[in-house]
Amino acid sequence: MSYGDPSRYLEKIYVEEDCYNLPYTKEIIARSGLPVTVLPNRQEPDICGNYPDNLPQGKQNLFLCRNRGKFFKPCPATKEYRCCDYQVLNIGMNCPMDCVYCILQSYLNNPWISYFVNIDDLFKELDETLLSNQHPFQRIGTGEFTDSMALDRLTGLSKHLVEYFSKKDNCILELKTKSVIIQNLESLEHNGRTVVSWSLNSPPIMAREEIRAASLQERLEAAVQCSFWGYKLGFHFDPIVYHDGWQEGYRETIRNLFQAVDKDSIAWISMGALRYIPTLKTIATRRFPHSSIFYEEFIDGLDGKLRYFRSLRVEMYTFIATEILKYIGPKTCLYFCMESDEVWKEVMGFTPEEKGGLPAMLDKTMC
Ligand code: SF4
Repeated sequence: MSYGDPSRYLEKIYVEEDCYNLPYTKEIIARSGLPVTVLPNRQEPDICGNYPDNLPQGKQNLFLCRNRGKFFKPCPATKEYRCCDYQVLNIGMNCPMDCVYCILQSYLNNPWISYFVNIDDLFKELDETLLSNQHPFQRIGTGEFTDSMALDRLTGLSKHLVEYFSKKDNCILELKTKSVIIQNLESLEHNGRTVVSWSLNSPPIMAREEIRAASLQERLEAAVQCSFWGYKLGFHFDPIVYHDGWQEGYRETIRNLFQAVDKDSIAWISMGALRYIPTLKTIATRRFPHSSIFYEEFIDGLDGKLRYFRSLRVEMYTFIATEILKYIGPKTCLYFCMESDEVWKEVMGFTPEEKGGLPAMLDKTMC
């Protein structure tokens, strides 16, 4: 059963006092139709209960506030594994969906959803960063600490971002989501500078472990629509989860993906097996006692995260990569998110360095 727009889950908006009169804040409040409470600056919403047990209730509250720190940061990668040199544009924290494996449960310590309304500062910082030109080409995404599109019906941020990036030639924007809130993307002059991407998984994992997220069919229909509007697409098999029937599950998703979507519209597809910091297991198993995904055998990775044994990771990656390679187009980059050179070599037969490095492999897809 489809949940529909995840922003339907919201019940209340809180606003920091000095943001209340911003025209952008007023727009969001007007679109939402939700009750609003204005809070003194730096005072946070008061949600009953203790974190993380109050997350289901906390996620019903949207806090419109000012980002007093940096909007733009490199992805928090670790040197032990191959990283794609991604840059994160931090538009807010937390999300109205609720995935069992969501790392934000252990990264955050507030249950509500924060959304930063001082977007003039965001674009000013982007201008400064892109002008300083430390990197010849940047891939920039908003989906690291929240879902890029889940609140877009209310925020309309995608319109501002897509139009901004359409005028840049040294960067591209990736909007990564598990929702299908794409209506604002229609009719935008994107100039090929935005990639819209979806996380995909085996159907039982999507159904059981991704609460309030769109179904596979909905995600693929949205992808087809975005492709029709001229956007390049990305897909992320992440986290790949070991479960009964995983081969059939991932095969079915991949078959459905390539039946629905024109292979030439896909810029990249990533693969990353489930990995997590130890505190996530404590939180997620308490919040989701029905889930068994954390009860497999894991080892301590070099980055302090728990991972499946390398032999199992290689088995799953080899199966999934083989299925994808049956259909993939010549310009699409199939890559691993945070894997070692040994795994690259075993599964793909080469290391990223042999192809000029992972960032260069991805940048080439946009040429
Ligand atoms: S959609 Fe992304 S941000 Fe939202 S709960 Fe799931 S994993 Fe976390």
